[in-house]
This record gives sequence, C-alpha cells and structure tokens, in this order.
Amino acid sequence: MSYIVIKNKKGTVEKLPPSGYTSWLDFWERQKGQRAYQCKTIPCDGPADVGGHVIKSGEGGKEYILPLCYECNNKPDDTSFYARESDLVSVQ
Ligand SMILES: [Zn+2]
Repeated sequence: MSYIVIKNKKGTVEKLPPSGYTSWLDFWERQKGQRAYQCKTIPCDGPADVGGHVIKSGEGGKEYILPLCYECNNKPDDTSFYARESDLVSVQ
C-alpha cells in the first residue's frame, strides 16, 4: 500500500455540504458506503471528528473530503499529511 501526501485546503470553513447532506462527514460516509470512525491521516489514531477539505500535494486546487480529527483539521494549511488515496472522496 502506498501513501500520498495531502494538505488541508485553504478557505473552506464556511463551505456548506451539498444539498441533502447534514455535514461533510455525512457526505463522505454516504459516498463511501461506510462509517468513519478514525481520522484517516497516517499515522493518527484520533477520532473522525469532521469531513476535512484536503488537496493532493502537487495536484493544484482539486478538492477532496477525508475524515479528520480536530487536531489534524486545525493544523496550518502548509502541513503535509500522509493518507491512502482510496480514502479520498472527490468534491464535484
Ligand atoms: Zn488526526
């Protein structure tokens, strides 16, 4: 299993989830068809507190949702994290 580098996307605090979803974490769970229990950055064993907005390093601004703990979600935007590509849900 190889990991990719992701970062928090800037300026997404006010962004509302798509119509019909109660939160970005709800969006992630229903797109994936599974519950989110743990923060999906590696290595972090924090809880899945929010559906965080992230970008792949080097890919530009394309936005994905990933379950994050508050601690990871609140790190500075230039902090690099590792994650599994298969855990990312694209935001259209
Ligand atoms: Zn975390």
